Amino acid sequence: MSPKSPRPAVPTPGADHSTDPYLPEHGNGGYQVEHYALDLDYRVGPNRLAGQASLTAVSTQPLSRLSLDLSGFRLDRVAVDGRAAKFTRTGEKLHIRPARPVPVNTRFQVDIRYAGNPAPVPGRWGDIGWDELTNGSLVASQPIGAPSWFPCNDHPSDRASYRIAVTTDSPYSVQVTGNLVSRRRRASTTTWTYERPEPTPSYLMSVQIGQYDEVSLATSPVRQRAAVPARLRKPFGRDFGRQEQIMKTLEGYFGPYPFGEYVVVVTDDALDDPIEAQGMSIFGANHVDGRRTYERLAVHELAHQWFGNSLTVADWRQIWLNEGFATYAEWLWSEATGGRSAAAHAGEWYDRLSAGPNDILVADPGVDRMFDPQLYKRGGLTLHALRQRLGDDRFFPLVRDWATMRRHSPVTTEQFTTFTEAHAGESLTDLFAAWLWTKPLPLFPAR
Ligand SMILES: [Zn+2]
Repeated sequence: MSPKSPRPAVPTPGADHSTDPYLPEHGNGGYQVEHYALDLDYRVGPNRLAGQASLTAVSTQPLSRLSLDLSGFRLDRVAVDGRAAKFTRTGEKLHIRPARPVPVNTRFQVDIRYAGNPAPVPGRWGDIGWDELTNGSLVASQPIGAPSWFPCNDHPSDRASYRIAVTTDSPYSVQVTGNLVSRRRRASTTTWTYERPEPTPSYLMSVQIGQYDEVSLATSPVRQRAAVPARLRKPFGRDFGRQEQIMKTLEGYFGPYPFGEYVVVVTDDALDDPIEAQGMSIFGANHVDGRRTYERLAVHELAHQWFGNSLTVADWRQIWLNEGFATYAEWLWSEATGGRSAAAHAGEWYDRLSAGPNDILVADPGVDRMFDPQLYKRGGLTLHALRQRLGDDRFFPLVRDWATMRRHSPVTTEQFTTFTEAHAGESLTDLFAAWLWTKPLPLFPAR
């Protein structure tokens, strides 16, 4: 029942493109990265980043050349397996010719020394990636911003572990998506080292630098902490005061939280939208008002730790599997805390969507509509339709099993529909065809 999409050819060795139907210019063929070790030295005032990146990768084809994604920066040295390698730059690609070709199925290491003023990657969604704040910097990379701060194979299907050390002026707090393993202070600078063992796509890695207070949010069932500007601590305390309850509620629906801890960062500047990273969410100062106005966004971003981060889109067509679940989590939280029921939220959004236009396929929205609100709400409605069809007794175990069985794995819509039908023990072709693969709105699922 999935529409046939052309199956792209396997990239040739050194191919500077991925097989992504939406963003083929991001990601590269011929290898998979296993581990990134990044040593970064950053100065806030001049916005200057000097980095040493060591990538451990495995070739999937013989490689006489290979490509990485990197935007900006001067390169001082590129080496493959310790030998200096020739390289050229075109646009946001780094092309490398190893001194000795890498045979197929071989582990190899690429070392790159680079420096410059990091700047976000311009694109159809605006400027994305490493960006300066009034006093510090942030990284918000979804979907194409990672090459703004490190050389990478920038595609969600290439997921690796990370070790990131950031040295910067001591007054600044450095929050990196990972577990803090050391913090060493010298005369005027501090080096913060983090490790991220879970397989993580480049776009979900993030560095947050600012003058933040560290606040504990919860110690059970998951350690949660926050980095917050001192001036916002009081309203933040109220707005994010129910994180423990939100975590327990979402674990009840989706199973165990997939990472070691959860970190909330609030920047001292306003942000258009909060953004998820691996084990972390980033909010703007404008999302803190002391009245819990944006609590649903706190729920949405936490839900992404299961749907989007642990379960990662195999390619960008599958984005509704992130946003539909995160949207439905908002409605479930409302229902669980005595607010409006998920059915009431679904009904309201159904009525709003009924006014039209209904002009995207949820399961294949097209690159320009990946982040369209219509996809978010109809994605949530799709899950509500599934819940109505199956009943709570079958729907909630299914969602929990999906999140648990695909933990830390790439996912596709086809895998979800196949899994769902097998779990439910019945054909749901009509439901998925109507909600995911048809533009006009189906009838509202019976309440
Ligand atoms: Zn989202």
